[in-house]
Amino acid sequence: MPEFSLSRPAASTKLPAMSDNLHVLNHPLAQSFLSEIRDQQANRATVRHHIRALSLMLFYEATHDLPTETIRVQTPLAETDGSYVKAAVGLVPILRAGLGMVDGILEVLPDARVYHLGIFRDEHTLEPVEYYSKLSRHTPVDIAFILDPMLATGGSATTAVERLKAWGVKEIKFLGIFAAPEGVKHLTEAHPDVEIYVSAVDERLNDRGYIVPGMGDAGDRQFSGE
Ligand code: URA
Repeated sequence: MPEFSLSRPAASTKLPAMSDNLHVLNHPLAQSFLSEIRDQQANRATVRHHIRALSLMLFYEATHDLPTETIRVQTPLAETDGSYVKAAVGLVPILRAGLGMVDGILEVLPDARVYHLGIFRDEHTLEPVEYYSKLSRHTPVDIAFILDPMLATGGSATTAVERLKAWGVKEIKFLGIFAAPEGVKHLTEAHPDVEIYVSAVDERLNDRGYIVPGMGDAGDRQFSGE
């Protein structure tokens, strides 16, 4: 467990003025979970739980403007106005690290569709390589949420947005746990219409394309790390 001090969130957790599309969770619970998953001693169960919880918080933020339709509801006592979500929502986890962001979100939107996209980063060129997609066989959803814990170079996220737009999706949002300034810049320059929701914007990328300080390999930390 990391050592905690009783303090307000650090200034570095505030929203950097790098893009109007960038939204950073600046909540004490989120910052506490983040600090724990940064810790290299955190075990898989902790990392999984916190990524799941952070994803849910990000999803709440990112769905504040979901379209709804008013309905009349008959309670045991009276009739009243109610509403329900009126949009086909798609979750698009980028394999494999994005998988850990799906289940928490499905608890609050159980009928969301899930479309897996396999994209990995070539470790030499740092360019995205696609290896799995079933998107185009279905009618496009109204809103798609790309799920990837690490917005690093921005290559995978940009590729995912391109595929979703080619499929016909009109509204796309990106949800991630950590972002590097380089990734935010790449994605917003390529797709200024895509809103980005993350829990932290870190300092930089290293020469292997890892976010510093970050949490290391988000796939290994969730699924196969020691
Ligand atoms: N992918 C990861 O898993 N970690 C990083 O820091 C960057 C990309």
